Amino acid sequence: MDSEQFGEAGRQMIDYVISYLENIRDRRVFPTVKPGFMRDLIPADAPEKPETWDAVFADIERVIMPGITHWHSPRFNAFFPTANSYPAILGDILSDAIGCIGFTWAASPSCTELEVVMMDWLGKMLKLPEEFLACSGGQGGGVIQGTASEATVVALLAAKSRRIRKIKEEHPEITNMDILSKLMCYASDQSHSGVERAAMLGSLNIRLIKSDKNFAMDAKILEETIRKDKADGLFPFYVVATLGTTPCCAFDDLTEIGPVCKREGVWMHVDAAYAGSAFVCPEFQHYMKGIELADSFNFNPHKWMLVNFDCSAMWIKNSAELVEAFNVDPLYLRHDKQGLVPDYRHWQIPLGRRFRALKLWFVLRLYGVEGVRAHIRLQVKQAKEFEDLMAKDERFEIAVPVRMGLVCLRLKGPNELSEKLLRRINDSGKIYVTPSKLRETFVIRFCVCASRTNSEDILYSWNVIKEYADEILAESTT
Ligand code: PLP
Repeated sequence: MDSEQFGEAGRQMIDYVISYLENIRDRRVFPTVKPGFMRDLIPADAPEKPETWDAVFADIERVIMPGITHWHSPRFNAFFPTANSYPAILGDILSDAIGCIGFTWAASPSCTELEVVMMDWLGKMLKLPEEFLACSGGQGGGVIQGTASEATVVALLAAKSRRIRKIKEEHPEITNMDILSKLMCYASDQSHSGVERAAMLGSLNIRLIKSDKNFAMDAKILEETIRKDKADGLFPFYVVATLGTTPCCAFDDLTEIGPVCKREGVWMHVDAAYAGSAFVCPEFQHYMKGIELADSFNFNPHKWMLVNFDCSAMWIKNSAELVEAFNVDPLYLRHDKQGLVPDYRHWQIPLGRRFRALKLWFVLRLYGVEGVRAHIRLQVKQAKEFEDLMAKDERFEIAVPVRMGLVCLRLKGPNELSEKLLRRINDSGKIYVTPSKLRETFVIRFCVCASRTNSEDILYSWNVIKEYADEILAESTT
């Protein structure tokens, strides 16, 4: 493909993307294909001779689209949102064209420098304490990870390194093997599965602390558990608090958990993967109270801040602890400005990294902070609209107070009714919702996800749910 052909194909692709996104409601949100469907649609081997762009382009609709779950359809009310905006797409196009691998400052200075400044912009938007920001001149700073799960692992490894160093200072006779088998992590039983996986990946033990009646981590139980573990000769070192849990968007109280971590000398990492974007609005910042007690904090602009996947923002108060945890320094990666600016290879698991700050820069400039706030507020309002529609139907109940864009609803009565309703809704392909279990109670999670959602879409989704509830309840009475 030469530059002229690229220009033509590129314009065709941009037109396709616009048409796809603007008409996305017309597509069935969840595909009907069966596992292995694609084998019948494409040849078993790569073509020996080059094909034409027209042939490839035609196969987007024939081969790919039948198996796509349309995450950006307003009919997609599953999981949590993943962001999508034209400015972010433009940022990714430029990132792909530049195609640099910014593992050190010298590997592509703009890649590192824009990321440092963008993470300060974002941190200030959220009113993070100065200590987290690179512009404060201290050891704090931000980094873009691929996902919240990676941020959880990175924080865990830094915390582990800090704890091992301290134990070795105090008890030089203890072997590494002995220490590793006694290190303990903690998170609530509502935390994301990524936290448990982080501990598994590090071959470390984790305790899931019982949540209270509001599905928030019980700080008293956390403290008792840590103390008991210490008395039993174990080494507690890492607590993950969640702001906006996956099952029902519950908020752990950092003003209760933070002091426990401080007293017990344990690293507190805060996972706000979904809800963190909302902290750009002053009315939601109270959920972050106590954030100054955290060692690291993370949220995903790629969930709710209009920046396409992947862009997970992580801050750490003392970046030296990351560098120490991961520092391997071969000659071929060194440069003569080392130490003057972050070398992000020390802040993450892979070596290679994309120029992700570009899409963040484009989004923040083209929406402005006001635009981002408006997006969050609209989706919170739409969740309320959905709740109001539902509240008029006495066959339904809300399982927990509606928070952010998430509504957890169920049919009154045994779990089986709501389980059946969820299956019926998703089989229809009209909208897509996901299940959750809050202790023994089965709920349907309805989340406002797509940035194009309007009030008519909310009404449409509610009518679909009502239609299948009518059907199921009629069946159960016959
Ligand atoms: N933490 C929370 C609270 C989440 O809700 C999710 C995903 O929804 C994650 C972590 C995992 O996010 P990621 O896919 O970025 O690892």
